[in-house]
Amino acid sequence: MNKKELIQKARAYALKNAIHYNGKANVGAVISSLFAEGLKKEDTKEVGKEISKIVLEVNKISLEKQKKEFEKFEKLISFREVRDGLPKLPNAEKGVVMRFAPSPSGAMHIGHALTASISYLYVKKYGGKFYMRIEDTNPDNIYPPAYDLLKQDAKWLFEGKAKIVVQSERMELYYKYAEKLIKKNSAYVCTCSSESFKKLSDQKKECTCRKNSQKENLDRWEKMLAPQVYTKEVREPLRGPDKSSLKIFTEGNKKGFKQGEAVLRFKSNIKDKNPAMRDFPLARINESSHPLQKNKYRVWPLMNLSVTVDDIELKMTHIIRAKEHRDNAERQKMIYKILDKKYPWEAYLGRWKFKDMELSATKITQGIKEGKYSGWDDEKLPTISALRKKGYKPESFWKFSEHVGLSESDKVLDEKEFFKLLDTFNRK
Ligand SMILES: [Zn+2]
Repeated sequence: MNKKELIQKARAYALKNAIHYNGKANVGAVISSLFAEGLKKEDTKEVGKEISKIVLEVNKISLEKQKKEFEKFEKLISFREVRDGLPKLPNAEKGVVMRFAPSPSGAMHIGHALTASISYLYVKKYGGKFYMRIEDTNPDNIYPPAYDLLKQDAKWLFEGKAKIVVQSERMELYYKYAEKLIKKNSAYVCTCSSESFKKLSDQKKECTCRKNSQKENLDRWEKMLAPQVYTKEVREPLRGPDKSSLKIFTEGNKKGFKQGEAVLRFKSNIKDKNPAMRDFPLARINESSHPLQKNKYRVWPLMNLSVTVDDIELKMTHIIRAKEHRDNAERQKMIYKILDKKYPWEAYLGRWKFKDMELSATKITQGIKEGKYSGWDDEKLPTISALRKKGYKPESFWKFSEHVGLSESDKVLDEKEFFKLLDTFNRK
């Protein structure tokens, strides 16, 4: 390692150490990290002064800026460098509530396990609650065996301690919040086609539905919830925010909205500089039969509504999620704000890319059907059940994710590298 490289690496490690210790890096820690990178003892004296200078500089900048800068420098840090545990979480001393939220598309694979284990480790460390929340509010996108597969995997990976929440069992709660948002004038039912809504929103213009009164919106919400055709026999529809208006509705023998005719939208800022933030949808009609709920419900919350409601209701304190959810997190924060709730502490994780390993649930299901795999626990697959069968321990995944830490940079590993690391952690 030449001197220029060394200085760059010193800065990377100083930033990393500072972020780990609330903004203050320590010279000794940086030097010992550099030993792992090949710094020789006899050279310490020569570069020591330089390193102290770098540490001083780093300690002068804010934690936010340190994090930003570290994103650029992180690549310089050896992936195999042994970390001294996960960084501390703020406001965690009294315990934390955290979650892992898979969709029911298949069993857990190594990507899930590495992401979820970080949150689980924090709950282990500080005490509190760990939820596995199965996000099954899109009836069209559910692989029914996934419920049991995910529960089995969670039982093993999280020592039977994960509390299981199934979103489709909490529908009344989402309806309650939808109504709350309408009553706060922060949600409206939009009957524009998605093309015409998009056309307007691209020009930062509101559609006519946005100007409707709160009462009109509540009526329209009823029409979303109501079955499409009423017969006189159905006097009291099963649910709805306001029974009396439902009754009039029934007597009138009117029709509810059809699938695709109406969506509930959040009233954000129609001039938001990010078009994806403008009046995003909260709920829609989908009459497909749901594997658990069958045809009990026709209005389904979209992710940003159900996630927000659950994070509030389950009293989430810290959220660690994949960085592709950054925009969603911004939307969820808007809803939190309207409801006067404090948003949890949050962190993001970089994307995992596993070369030459099959992680796609669709492809695995297909492969099982075709007889290419004997099942989700086929030894050729990088699923948790397959690795459990091969004799790996849950701790090997915990150690692996602890080693990676709260890192936002994307990581690429091929099969050989992945198993080499996993084997190291399994032996420990
Ligand atoms: Zn509209």
